[in-house]
Amino acid sequence: MAAVSVSPKSPALADFRRIVVKVGSSLLVDSAAGKLNRDWLASLAVDIAELHRDKFTAGPAEGRTRLRDVLVVSSGAIALGRAVLKLPAGALKLEDSQAAAAVGQIALARTWSEMLGAHSMTAGQVLVTLGDTEERRRYLNARSTIAKLLEWRCVPVINENDTVATTEIRYGDNDRLAARVATMVSADLLVLLSDVDGLYDRPPGDGGAKLIPLVERITPQVEAMAGASGSELSRGGMVTKIEAGKIATTAGTHMVIASGRVAHPLKAIADGAACTWFLTPANPVTARKKWIAGSLEPRGTLIIDAGAVAALRRGKSLLPAGVVRIEGAFGRGDAVLIRGPDGAEIGRGLIAYDAEDAEKIKGRSSADILSILGFGGRSEIVHRDDLVMGGE
Ligand code: GLU
Repeated sequence: MAAVSVSPKSPALADFRRIVVKVGSSLLVDSAAGKLNRDWLASLAVDIAELHRDKFTAGPAEGRTRLRDVLVVSSGAIALGRAVLKLPAGALKLEDSQAAAAVGQIALARTWSEMLGAHSMTAGQVLVTLGDTEERRRYLNARSTIAKLLEWRCVPVINENDTVATTEIRYGDNDRLAARVATMVSADLLVLLSDVDGLYDRPPGDGGAKLIPLVERITPQVEAMAGASGSELSRGGMVTKIEAGKIATTAGTHMVIASGRVAHPLKAIADGAACTWFLTPANPVTARKKWIAGSLEPRGTLIIDAGAVAALRRGKSLLPAGVVRIEGAFGRGDAVLIRGPDGAEIGRGLIAYDAEDAEKIKGRSSADILSILGFGGRSEIVHRDDLVMGGE
């Protein structure tokens, strides 16, 4: 398959200078025993300390000017709270999981602080909600707090603020949250530790499924390997990991999915354990475009015609004339998805008109905007500078 190839060499963990490590709930919490997997966590803390101290690096450390930063995105608040409270098995109602997270997060934070502290690292807890990455001003604010922690050589330990996040304002999964954090801090690597060791070309339960060691570009074929989206089971599964991969790689952050079912999981990656690497395209985009590309909740969709798709691919802006259909209720400046006539996602951008005005000018020449709307707005409905193409 053209999209997936083993020809370029997989990167080495030691090559990265700012690494976000995402740890899934099932690794941290032994649900059957109702407690944290402390031994495993202790082995991970050893690896984090080695990375933080610039180990796993070939050659002498002298002369290296930049220390390595490590950030942790830790799940487990709900699972741990549920274990501590001995809540019955089965799906939790939102208010139950919010309250369980309040109990679990405090224990989780203490454990991270102890585990990292045992290696002379200082943990700093950061709890974020969706708005902290989706609204530009809050995004910049969260970014500067985390930057300060890194400057102080602390290890930020990040989770969603599950206790206050309600359905509409939740990430819901820490894969995409971790990708957002990674792009926010311009990390060069995102490590997703989970209970699978990577992406398989078909469901791993099916006979003959093969692990894909390297994904150069996330194509529709790669997405298909992750399975159908939208199912209950897919939350936190491969679908959200591929979504995370899209956010991360578009912004210039490499990603690796690796097994956390082994002791010293980061050392295992450094030693060449089976895993799946997702590479960034050759030309990472600007900070502003990273933010656009990573927006988790576009407010609407523009379906455009084949001519407009071709124009966008040639580096042009999107004009109202190329827009065939508009969906969603969005305001001026909101993020929208751009889809081609076949529904395939072409890119994402910030729209220059609200939904009502966009509806009026769609399919029309830019020269008519003044007479249609009664004011002369931008001739582009999504300007090139506000547009990120898939894989750009
Ligand atoms: N934020 C959730 C928790 O700490 C985890 C979400 C996920 O599993 O991805 O429980």
